[in-house]
Amino acid sequence: MENVIIIGTGCAGYTAAIYTARANLTPLMLSGTQPGGQLTTTTEVENFPGYPDGIMGPDLMMNMQQQAEKFGARITFASVETVEHREDGTFLVKAGSESYEAKTVIVATGAAPRHLGLEGEQKLIGHGLTSCATCDGAFYRDVPVCVIGGGDSACEEAGFLTRFASKVYLIHRRDTLRASKIMADRTLANPKIEPVWNATVSQYLTDDEGEMRAVMLKDTVDGSERELEVKCVFVAIGHVPNSAFLGDLVDKDENGYIIQRPGRTATKTPGLFAAGDVADHFYRQAITAAGQGCAAALEAERHLSEHEG
Ligand code: NAP
Repeated sequence: MENVIIIGTGCAGYTAAIYTARANLTPLMLSGTQPGGQLTTTTEVENFPGYPDGIMGPDLMMNMQQQAEKFGARITFASVETVEHREDGTFLVKAGSESYEAKTVIVATGAAPRHLGLEGEQKLIGHGLTSCATCDGAFYRDVPVCVIGGGDSACEEAGFLTRFASKVYLIHRRDTLRASKIMADRTLANPKIEPVWNATVSQYLTDDEGEMRAVMLKDTVDGSERELEVKCVFVAIGHVPNSAFLGDLVDKDENGYIIQRPGRTATKTPGLFAAGDVADHFYRQAITAAGQGCAAALEAERHLSEHEG
């Protein structure tokens, strides 16, 4: 029986691991399908305290992993399917054919990029459809691409893509950006970015090889449709928290974010804690996720000492 299982290996998960490992709880981390979490898909992180010259996202996550392992955290690659809360207050965590028992569980599974839900979408991922400009932008040099969305992420992605693409269309369903003013102003001032207002993508159009060729744009005002030729579509319409596998062990808001006890990381199930982007749609920062990971570790530690016979 594990003292604590940490599900997820992003900033929240690793910080929870460092704290619980230093408390001699020898945490078991289950990595999920994206070990290292969202920061592994970014380039330079300039706002994580302690790195005055910035640090590459993957390097930051590697450092966190080393720090957690140094104190005794164990990491297993596993994608958790269910968590069961048993009558004796312990948990059974199932991942494929493996199952793990634990006295406490910290959920730090983060959030995944949202997609539009159009036909053929899954097959197109990696063939001209992506959510990560820093991962895939460099593949699309001197060709037109588009970004869907009007928030800070869309603006950030669009700006980054201008380094490679011949043209970046920014497709937004309204005629004003949701992004912060500084990001919006910078985006609209960039001569390589062309906003396409009041438009949604109703269809992805492919060539004979199954690669993205164009999108079908639908005008949100008059309903008219037209094709726009792009070689890659970068979707930046927000995220979906990875909380579905918890069923009703936790309360969730209308978007699936786990509801924590006010000011805490505890959930409605005793011994089950949530930290980072799976529970936070407001700050969504590496450092706030790390802070919640620390809080969840301290709460799990306290739970264990209160329940240890
Ligand atoms: P967001 O702020 O929620 O923006 C999502 C955008 O996608 C909105 O413009 C929304 O349109 C659009 N959208 C949503 N669903 C759509 C759909 N089905 N079809 C078409 N468009 C759709 O998400 P985000 O940009 O990922 O940012 C999330 C948080 O992270 C924010 O708090 C943001 O400030 C922060 N962030 C900060 C930075 C930075 O400071 N450098 C960078 C990235 C993110 P509507 O506007 O019409 O709703």
